[in-house]
Amino acid sequence: MTAVHELLTDDAKNARSSVIRDILALVDADGVLSLAGGMPDPATFPCDDLVGAAVDALRGSPATALQYGRTEGMTELRELVAVDCTQRRSRPCAADEVLVTTGSQQALDLLGRAFLAPGDEVAIDDPGYLGAIQALGARHPRWLPIPVDRDGLDTHALEEALTAGHRPKLVYTVTDFQNPTGAVLHPDRRRHLATLAEHWGFVVVEDDPYGRIRFGEPEHPPIAAWTGRSVALGTTSKTIAPGLRVGWAVAPSEVTIVLARLKQATDLHTSTLSQHLVVDLLSRPGWMAQRAATLGRFYEERARHLRDALVDHVPSASMSAARGGLFQWADLAGVDTVALLDRAVASGVAFVPGSAFSTSGRHTSAMRLTHATLEPAALREAARRLGSVV
Ligand code: PMP
Repeated sequence: MTAVHELLTDDAKNARSSVIRDILALVDADGVLSLAGGMPDPATFPCDDLVGAAVDALRGSPATALQYGRTEGMTELRELVAVDCTQRRSRPCAADEVLVTTGSQQALDLLGRAFLAPGDEVAIDDPGYLGAIQALGARHPRWLPIPVDRDGLDTHALEEALTAGHRPKLVYTVTDFQNPTGAVLHPDRRRHLATLAEHWGFVVVEDDPYGRIRFGEPEHPPIAAWTGRSVALGTTSKTIAPGLRVGWAVAPSEVTIVLARLKQATDLHTSTLSQHLVVDLLSRPGWMAQRAATLGRFYEERARHLRDALVDHVPSASMSAARGGLFQWADLAGVDTVALLDRAVASGVAFVPGSAFSTSGRHTSAMRLTHATLEPAALREAARRLGSVV
């Protein structure tokens, strides 16, 4: 008789754990200082506010906070997201354009299922977010990697590819403090990308988990300010806490309905308790603005510690100053960072090799480092260990 695991589909058998997840396991390994995963420092979690919100939700509204909910998400949360979205894109966003998702990672999976058939083309930041490569890659697309520099996705390179005959259905980019490079998409490029979407008919997936963590960088309008051909992804993972698993997608309402149907089959709805907590915090006047300012100051200092320590201990690394978010990108010209990782872990420090972020096998001498997780003294020690193996 056929063994149980042999009944798995080829897709399931071929599914690979992401390098990120495997490396996150190292965080728990004895003595390894991790510059790898993008885990916010738990010291920043707003625990007191969450305790108050949880007591209110459980005592005050258990019939909704612990009950099944609507697949689209809590109306109050959709409205809060729509108001924020209206302000940022300077044109109206309605609550029925918003789908609450179980982290923005779920939105990526739903978008892949909604838009992509095997062989469809997808343009993506190169280097780009590993979780998007994983989620969209599950649909077996043809990748169109578009270079990222310090001004984000090179929209002129995208235009050349379009002119040469490429026809991506989706263009995926992280607009603010990109994962993995920290780049910010230049306002001119945002406008250009919107123009290209209107002309060539693709959909821009603008993913923005880090936009609230700014080190003095001015805010730029989202791509949706210039085009309706946008799906904007947001999350509370970096601003409140990732364990809540509350994110959202904002799309034309015809698309939101379809995404909601696909979500229904996956998890019925996002945790109602988590949504209650998020609604409570986001409804407090000024709460998010104050929190964003606190997080910006906290991580700016961390980023400076990591950068200074790298300048001292890994002088061969070329990197540009972090402008926000949780990541820094370093290049060690000529060094194979996958091979380096083994030795680094043996020496008690972890990072993510650059090639993990490429659909085209590039960035082999680069690495992504996070300043989010470790305290200043540990950041310095991690940089020292890294320096010793480089
Ligand atoms: N997009 C990007 C660019 C990310 O870096 C992450 C988290 N690392 C996500 C999406 C997913 O975040 P979550 O599912 O926690 O909202």
